[in-house]
Amino acid sequence: MVGGAACGGEKAPGRGAFPAALADSLVARQVAFGPRVPGTDAHAAALQWMTEWLRPRADAVTLMPFRHVTLTGDTLSLTNVWASFAPDAGSRILLTAHWDSRPVAERNADPDTRGEPVPGANDGASGVAVLLALADELSRTPPGVGVDILLTDGEDWGHDPDTYETRIEDMLLGARHFATTRGSTYRPLFGILLDLVGERNARFPWEQNSLALAPEVVRRVWDVADELGHGEYFPQERGPAVNDDHVVLNEAGIRTIDIIDFDYPAWHTTEDTPDKVDAATLGAVGDVVLEVVRRLGSRP
Ligand code: ZN
Repeated sequence: MVGGAACGGEKAPGRGAFPAALADSLVARQVAFGPRVPGTDAHAAALQWMTEWLRPRADAVTLMPFRHVTLTGDTLSLTNVWASFAPDAGSRILLTAHWDSRPVAERNADPDTRGEPVPGANDGASGVAVLLALADELSRTPPGVGVDILLTDGEDWGHDPDTYETRIEDMLLGARHFATTRGSTYRPLFGILLDLVGERNARFPWEQNSLALAPEVVRRVWDVADELGHGEYFPQERGPAVNDDHVVLNEAGIRTIDIIDFDYPAWHTTEDTPDKVDAATLGAVGDVVLEVVRRLGSRP
């Protein structure tokens, strides 16, 4: 446990330890590239920027490029980003988020604008921002446990060419690629997926697939949230079931939960912009994830 945080008297150690303002700025930075849609200049620029952010901070950074042929016959060039702290440590934790953003806005009220890409401030950029800020924190105070950050590409691609409705066959692509190439040998203690983690006054109830597939990880994370005084963001109650990257990872034997606020009105619309994202929410999520990592690292 990190000492010296007792300035508030009642404040739980670990609360406020995460650099929330930095994370907030990293959401805006990503959105400023434009939609991170595979095949676009913004996508390529964001990839280069993330890599340059991670290289001096993590102990090892690897790009994992791959291709995917879609239902409509298009070939996508995609890249997962892998950044490790203490890469040789046997005890490890996986932290993951998707870095691409959705090419269509099928939930826009106006049908004529549903073919436009979403800005992806909360859906994509928020989870990446928390993990990039966490990397900065871990670079200054090493975690004492192996930490692997996996930023997946192509999570949010799949869509019907006419209606733009989601097509799951062309989604979760980076997680599928990782599961196929690394899933049989990579065995962290557990994994945490962050998706839609930035909305002002967000609530993260227990996501039901997480509860079914890795209940002990759900308990660990939500109990830490309680102890840090972040229970308002992490209510101990059942939420919806979401088919997200963590389901693919669990199928490969990597016990992974999803911290997700699936009650987000701007989801898959062009209204998913940085003004919906709040540093306090990013801070609560970051505090909890950082504290989970720190506790693993301080075990005897
Ligand atoms: Zn999405």
